[in-house]
Amino acid sequence: MLRKGLATELKWFLLFFVAVLFIGASAGYWREAAILALGLYLAWTLRSLSRLERWVNQARTGNVQDNELFGMWGEIAEDVKLLMQRYEKDKLRLQAVVSRVQDMTSALNDGVILADSRANIEWWNQAATEMLGLRQIDFGHRITNIVRDPRFQSYFDAGEYAEPLEIESYRNEGQQLLFQIHPYGQGERLIVVRDITRVAKLEQMRRDFVANVSHELRTPLTVVRGYVETLLDMPDQSPMLRRALEQMQQQGMRMTSLVNDLIMLTKLETDDRSAQQDQVQLHQLVGLIFNDGRAMSSENTQFINEVPQDITLQGNEKELRSAFSNLVINAVKYAGAGGGKDCTIRVFTEQQSGQFLLHVQDNGIGIDPKHIPRLTERFYRIDGGRSSSAGGTGLGLAIVKHVLLRHDGQLKIESKPGKGSTFSCCFPSNRVTRTLASI
Ligand code: ADP
Repeated sequence: MLRKGLATELKWFLLFFVAVLFIGASAGYWREAAILALGLYLAWTLRSLSRLERWVNQARTGNVQDNELFGMWGEIAEDVKLLMQRYEKDKLRLQAVVSRVQDMTSALNDGVILADSRANIEWWNQAATEMLGLRQIDFGHRITNIVRDPRFQSYFDAGEYAEPLEIESYRNEGQQLLFQIHPYGQGERLIVVRDITRVAKLEQMRRDFVANVSHELRTPLTVVRGYVETLLDMPDQSPMLRRALEQMQQQGMRMTSLVNDLIMLTKLETDDRSAQQDQVQLHQLVGLIFNDGRAMSSENTQFINEVPQDITLQGNEKELRSAFSNLVINAVKYAGAGGGKDCTIRVFTEQQSGQFLLHVQDNGIGIDPKHIPRLTERFYRIDGGRSSSAGGTGLGLAIVKHVLLRHDGQLKIESKPGKGSTFSCCFPSNRVTRTLASI
């Protein structure tokens, strides 16, 4: 169906054409009359077109007036007017949304910065100004030129944002900042900066408290254990007293290992990285740990040391010994719990895409997959009773995790219930050297 404007246009054109043709024909000039009618219509159309163009130009500058165009041209002008009004409305709505989002983020205590795909700063809120000292001239500059801490630069460039980054503020002494980056859109990044000074202080207080309590407990524990041992050595005790003393000795030993583990863990958490770095002979180290393991295990436990003789790992020997020892002792404790079968504890190494792996494998009771993600949490135990009776403190794997973190490494755990477990310590390859080139 024809639209109203076009129908009016056609109606008037036909009326005009027929009228001119009729007058022309009655004077005997119908051909000339038809040409004249068409010429006049063309002139009128061109005039309407130019008026429409003028009107659109005027409207574009924001001055939308009622149009005085006729027929189809008037209708086109009305459509344009409608579209422009709709566009204006959408623009205003979007502007309102943007300014609401800006108001909201300005009200946040956390700093928010938007960086484009080339890492140039596009926008930031008031809190970011206060935390990072951003100024108007920083607009469009690379974020890494503003936050110049090398740890932030490598964190930003690495593109691995699963974990946040904690650094000390370069502007306000003592202020701890937490950076979390969220990629979005076409390579753009949203950077959230949080002031975590209070949480960091509380965390420090917690660490100090645990360290102090553990240190303070050491002396009284040593005294109590000493007396219990002396009493146990005394002759002619009643069986009941003897049993009580033996239990006291056992629990005293447990408390000592707990205190020692807590002290170790606090030390690992407190210093960022150990200053002492040795070239650790891995084969020998595993051999020494196996000797300790043999003393604790039954005769049917087999220890297999497949670590090549010539491998050295750069790191802190004391810490590495503690970590590997925890893994081997766990293997002894939980492999023996398998029930009757021969236990095998095997330590072997592997080189895998830029990483060096040291695996501690056992064929013991294994671990249900649902527990694996939580095993390195402090005091997390699958079977509290079994762990305590095996002399566990629940801190062993937490220590392993921290030692590996301090050596740029991580712990991976693979296990199948009833089949056994493999605990793998992954280190960057550049920490490892071999004297015989056969790796
Ligand atoms: P614990 O001192 O209790 O052994 P850990 O932190 O060393 O504490 O280990 C946490 C838990 O992980 C243990 O309670 C145990 O249930 C489980 N676990 C650790 N190593 C093994 C292993 N080799 N086989 C089976 N379970 C293990």
